[in-house]
Amino acid sequence: MDTTLALAWVREIASAVEEHEAQLTELDSAIGDGDHGSNLRRGFTAALAALDGLDPASVGAALSRTGTTLISKVGGASGPLYGSAFRAMGTALPGERADAAEFGAALAAGLAAIRRLGAAEPGDKTIVDAWTPALAAFELAAPTGFAAAAEAAAGAAEQGMRDTVPLQARKGRASYLGPRSIGHQDPGATSTALLFRALARVAEK
Ligand code: ADP
Ligand code: MG
Ligand code: MG
Repeated sequence: MDTTLALAWVREIASAVEEHEAQLTELDSAIGDGDHGSNLRRGFTAALAALDGLDPASVGAALSRTGTTLISKVGGASGPLYGSAFRAMGTALPGERADAAEFGAALAAGLAAIRRLGAAEPGDKTIVDAWTPALAAFELAAPTGFAAAAEAAAGAAEQGMRDTVPLQARKGRASYLGPRSIGHQDPGATSTALLFRALARVAEK
C-alpha cells in the first residue's frame, strides 16, 4: 500500500457507494430511517472533493482527511463511526508505504475506534459484524501478500454481512425494532463489505 493506492481506495469506495446507494437506502428503510445510502454518498463525495489535488505525504494522510470529512459531513451514526475508523487508520499509517502487516494493524485500529465510539459487540448487527471477520481474514492472509489479504478480507466481510440477516439488532436505530429487526441484512455491515471489496479491487491492480 502506498499513497497512490490509498487515494485509489477512497475513490473506489466513493464509486461503490454511488453504485449501491439505492440498495443501502432500501436496507436502511427496512430497519432504520432510509438514509444510509444518501449519508454515505454525501460523505464520500465530500471526501473526494477534500482529496482533490492533495499530494499526501503518507498513506495515512489521505485516510485521515477522509475520516475528518466523513465526521463533518455525515449526520447519521455511520459518519462518526466510519470517520473515526478512517482517522484511526490514518494515524496508524504514518509512512509513505505500508506492508500487509502494517495495513492489518491499521484495520485493527479502525475497528477499535468503531467499537470505542459505538460500543457494539460482534453479533449486535452493525458494522462490527463485517469489519471483525474482515480484519481476521486480512491478518491471516497478510503473510501471502497485500492483494491476497485484501481479497480474503472482502470475502469475509461479505460473509459477515450476510450473517447479520438472522441477528436481532442491539445497537443503533434498528435496535428500536427489537425482534422485528430479525430477517433483514444490516445496512452498515453492507457498506463495510463494499469498503473491503473496494480495497480488494484496487489492490489487485
Ligand atoms: P442512522 O442510523 O443515524 O440513520 P446510518 O443509517 O447512516 O445512520 O447508519 C446505520 C448503520 O450504522 C447501521 O446499519 C449499523 O450498521 C451502524 N451502526 C449504528 N449504530 C452502531 C454502533 N453503535 N456501532 C457500530 N455500528 C453502528
Ligand atoms: Mg439511517
Ligand atoms: Mg439517519
